[in-house]
Amino acid sequence: MMRQYELVERVQRYKPDVNEALLNKAYVYAMQKHGHQKRASGDPYFSHPLEVAAILTDMHMDEATIAVALLHDTIEDTTATRQEIDELFGPDLGKLVEGLTKLKKLDLVSKKAEQAENLRKLLLAISEDVRVLLVKLADRLHNMRTLDHMRDDKRLRIAEETMEIYAPLAGRMGMQGMREELEELAFRYINPEAYRTVTARLADISERNRGVIVEIENSLSGLFEKYALNATVKSRQKKPWSVFRKMEAKALSFEQLSDIFGFRVVVESVEDCYRALGAIHTTWSMVPGRFKDYISTPKQNDYRSIHTTIVGPSRQRIELQIRTREMNKIAEYGVAVHALYKDTGGKVNASHTISKETNAYAWLRRTIEQLSEGDNPEDFLENTKLELFQDQVFCFTPKGMLIALPRGATPIDFAYAVHTDVGDTCVGAKVNGRIMPLMTELKNGDEVEIIRSKAQVPPAAWESVVVTGKARAAIRRATKNAIRKQYSGLGVRILERAFERSGKTFSKDSLKSVLHRLARKDIEDVLSSVGRGELSSTDVMKAVYPDFKEERVTLPPKPREEGWSKIRNAAGMLFQIPGRASRKERQAAKESGAVPIRGVRGDLPVRFAPEGAVPGDRIIGIVQPGSGITIYPIQSPSLTAFDDQPERWIDVRWDIDEATKERFPARISVVAINAPGSLAEIAQVIAENDANIHTLSMVRTAPDFTEMLIDLEVWDLKHLNRLISQLKENSSVSDARRVNG
Ligand code: MN
Repeated sequence: MMRQYELVERVQRYKPDVNEALLNKAYVYAMQKHGHQKRASGDPYFSHPLEVAAILTDMHMDEATIAVALLHDTIEDTTATRQEIDELFGPDLGKLVEGLTKLKKLDLVSKKAEQAENLRKLLLAISEDVRVLLVKLADRLHNMRTLDHMRDDKRLRIAEETMEIYAPLAGRMGMQGMREELEELAFRYINPEAYRTVTARLADISERNRGVIVEIENSLSGLFEKYALNATVKSRQKKPWSVFRKMEAKALSFEQLSDIFGFRVVVESVEDCYRALGAIHTTWSMVPGRFKDYISTPKQNDYRSIHTTIVGPSRQRIELQIRTREMNKIAEYGVAVHALYKDTGGKVNASHTISKETNAYAWLRRTIEQLSEGDNPEDFLENTKLELFQDQVFCFTPKGMLIALPRGATPIDFAYAVHTDVGDTCVGAKVNGRIMPLMTELKNGDEVEIIRSKAQVPPAAWESVVVTGKARAAIRRATKNAIRKQYSGLGVRILERAFERSGKTFSKDSLKSVLHRLARKDIEDVLSSVGRGELSSTDVMKAVYPDFKEERVTLPPKPREEGWSKIRNAAGMLFQIPGRASRKERQAAKESGAVPIRGVRGDLPVRFAPEGAVPGDRIIGIVQPGSGITIYPIQSPSLTAFDDQPERWIDVRWDIDEATKERFPARISVVAINAPGSLAEIAQVIAENDANIHTLSMVRTAPDFTEMLIDLEVWDLKHLNRLISQLKENSSVSDARRVNG
């Protein structure tokens, strides 16, 4: 534990005329009051206020602030009273200690009104005396540094509160150093796995780039020497949390991040900043679009610097920040700089309010004005948080639990933030009591109720709608599982059919003993590999029945009669069927166990041949390794390409009913008479018949005629035929027919 004289010496180093008596008195008083109290770690309780004081000496705070730090827990946790502290240390200090006592935790899961009240108290206290914020942040920082000793659940709650309230508040007040350390510590507890991964990757990168970094530092220093500029150059690595956040926000991988390293150039004056910039830009080329002058236009939190990116000495991109010593101090300590002792005659600066010229002060003032205008605490919370956490939105569950989300978040993000199960089963959302589309961007204060359905599988398209990494990862996982399930379902059907052909019965259990022979890790894996076309049903048969002999399929002569087609199923069985199947035949096909096709949104991985296929068509499926089944109309000439791969053919049938709200693709060829407006007329006929044009291309143009291919989306064969006959009747059309249908 730091000794009394050590603390005094620390302050003396930056403030030679320190009021030693005040520090000594506070040290002894706090130590006596806390007595034998212990922290969760087993350390004497007094070590905590002492460490908080030490943090503030690092920020070069005055002795009054240090004394308040020493005393900050006395009223709350010991027999000390406001009156006693007033008498011993004066009412100014007493008021600060009492202020800190009143600032209870900003409990995130408490009722909105209470939260608003707590935040209001904190902001009011800061505006009166910024030292309240500094002690509060130092207090939180030390608690975060020693969070290991807390109970698990408490630890997570404190870490989340730090990430959601204290770190952004430190940032808003321009205290970058404080913000970064709070974020780093909170990140470690909120997402330990990600923290470890990112930290390890950063360490690895920094190890590998050590030589390059020194080289760049040297070239920059050499350059400034040449231009007679007094400048210090330092390399800087992005912090784990900001790396992680960027990866999440932009859905980037680690490798895609280009700006892990940056270099900071610190000079004497504003003029030198621009001279250094000139020297850099005349030596190396700058990367366009990356230049920012925050000296002429400071950021909201008073941050000032010039930012530029250049193509550096060894042709890498280098990010640079150029600033003065003073700007550097403000970037690091923010409003704390204004609370530094700036007295002239050894007297402690009386006001300690944030300087009125700063942007941070303007923000605080504005916020507090809002607070006195409206008496509705929830409005206040909404407004303040909007300002404080510019990149976040705060929403609530119907039970009043707060969910913090990045800006741009949707009800889907909200659902996943509540729980992965809630996200996976989300089918709709009520925002403030009204049903809203799931793509709705959430606003501060929205109350969101998620409507769920057990039958739901999150659509893959959601992945591009959500903004949180948690939602994105969960959707990807769910989509993968659903696809895997589709493939294994198809695999079961293919195997059932193949076994049946050989007079055997397929059972999943029979696969158990042959996993090794098939080099698959489990039964699911065998099934989905078969479904995917990566493993043939014959290989599985051979594995289960080692004496299985593949029957040689001899291709019969092609049927001569017009309108007859052949179908071969997965096991190589050949069918000959007429082009028009009777109801009886259709029923027979159904009973034969042909794989039912419900369209691309069904439970099998299905796609359609380029020329399309619609319900009513006689169809055949071709297994495409890696992409499921492609459905062809039986008449399609493209099928001949698969003649010598009978194992890829599977027998399929439509399974469409009233509930199928899906259109199917079909290609038609239309020959139009070249006359003004004929194309528009064709389009109109198609639209009037409730069909959609997917693509349209001209294949042949003659002086009088134009032939075009139109890919359509229609409901079924009847719909398609009606459309074709309507087209034929049109005076602009000389011919219309289906392609390969
Ligand atoms: Mn404390």
